[in-house]
Amino acid sequence: MKHSRTTRTRLVAITAAAALAGGSTLAGTAQAAVTVDTEDLREAVTVAGVMKHLDAFQAIADANDDNRQAGTSGHDASVDYVEALLDDAGYITTRQEFSYERVDFTGSSLVRTAPDPDTTYTLGIDFYPMDYSGGGTAAAPVTNVDLNLAGDRASTSGCEAADFTGFPAGNIALIQRGTCPFAVKADNAAAAGASGVIIFNQGNVVPGDDRLSLFGGTLDPPVRDIPVVSASYARGEEWANTPGLEMNLTLQITIEQVTTENLLADTPTGRTDRTVVAGGHLDSVGEGPGINDNGSGTGALLETALQMAELGIQPENRVRFAFWSGEEDGLIGSEYYVSQLTKREIKGTALNLNFDMVGSPNAVNFVYDGDGDALGVSGPNGSGLIEDVFTDFFTSQGSSSEPTDFDGRSDYFAFINAGIPAGGLFTGAEGIKTAAQAAEYGGTAGVAYDPCYHAPCDDIDNLSEDALDIMSDAIAHATLMFAETTSAVNGTGQGNGTGTVEWKFKGNKALR
Ligand SMILES: [Zn+2]
Repeated sequence: MKHSRTTRTRLVAITAAAALAGGSTLAGTAQAAVTVDTEDLREAVTVAGVMKHLDAFQAIADANDDNRQAGTSGHDASVDYVEALLDDAGYITTRQEFSYERVDFTGSSLVRTAPDPDTTYTLGIDFYPMDYSGGGTAAAPVTNVDLNLAGDRASTSGCEAADFTGFPAGNIALIQRGTCPFAVKADNAAAAGASGVIIFNQGNVVPGDDRLSLFGGTLDPPVRDIPVVSASYARGEEWANTPGLEMNLTLQITIEQVTTENLLADTPTGRTDRTVVAGGHLDSVGEGPGINDNGSGTGALLETALQMAELGIQPENRVRFAFWSGEEDGLIGSEYYVSQLTKREIKGTALNLNFDMVGSPNAVNFVYDGDGDALGVSGPNGSGLIEDVFTDFFTSQGSSSEPTDFDGRSDYFAFINAGIPAGGLFTGAEGIKTAAQAAEYGGTAGVAYDPCYHAPCDDIDNLSEDALDIMSDAIAHATLMFAETTSAVNGTGQGNGTGTVEWKFKGNKALR
């Protein structure tokens, strides 16, 4: 790419081969080390080449209401753009159509109507509608459900139907976060006759997880019949201790039927029983053009695919480049894709690589924590090895990297649930850069990795080209590495992972 890396290339190849050979933890079935020289591809995948695609995505947004959201003309035009280039390059492309309901909250209010005086709470500060909440009004007394506001605040509030014994039908249920998914709590409340649900943060101490503030949560489809909102711990505690509390909770919603599609592009050659699925989501949020989220990941994947074809690479294993849709509405496209795979196709999927936000303006080189050694949640067998390939790559480039939660925030979610190992890269979203990270990667401490996350300003200026540069190299490197090697991931551990991860997130919303 920009600088000569000739002297480092050999090191990359050897390091990666060593990592691949070191799969003794993978049931001892690792095959002989294969050296994959990825230099030619990395040289061919330039940041200028990736930026050309990001300019095209920006132009598409400019011409289509400033966004590229699933189900809109902006997303359709993005699919057309990517598909035409990949068709020309000789890939076998397929559009995979699917439909779902998208809920928009068009008016939300929460008012304390008793005891006097009335108090009006503020959307986004005091409460937030949960994804897949129903609409309507609940105007009723508020009933506490098995709360634990003392000591460790361990909570199973609302997780069991028995928590609602004696619950007065028609009341609003006040529930504490903890143990089970929000969906279980809300559905138990609805079954007990609740007219509305407030789920407040748990109030306990969980390192790396905010259990005090207002949070965004999801109930997952389908859309429920009653309004369900989240709140901070402080508000929940205050409400729980207010005798005679009555509230008016109103959510106005519109339900939109979305029809959209994933775009898949297969190499015409390579073993189909060791398919490498390298993907990222092509849809943006409705609020903006989505150039970092996720023009960056899809632009880098597209350029990798085009340069592989340009170099005449015929990989050992089939590579399926996947451009997911519906990610921003809850990982819907990738989940649909995995749901449509036969058992044989799941077994024939060697791994999933996921690239979602790889050009953040205040970037950190994050690698998904596949083995869980840093942050606790691990993926199926092989996920740790994928992490090693990325980590070794950054080391070989004289760069640092650090693990990021493998917590279900992006499209690898469904793959891991199916037992398919996964890994990927991320340069940060709404999280705040630490002083140590600023010292290591540059940028500004105390500022979000991407201050324009899910905002209108996520445009062509919302990028670090340096981050995009090294991330694009890492994407090209890992894609080719797994395309060419009969590694301990490919052909051995696939399809037999545990698939029993207790997800904390789905997309950017908490599940539990
Ligand atoms: Zn994203």
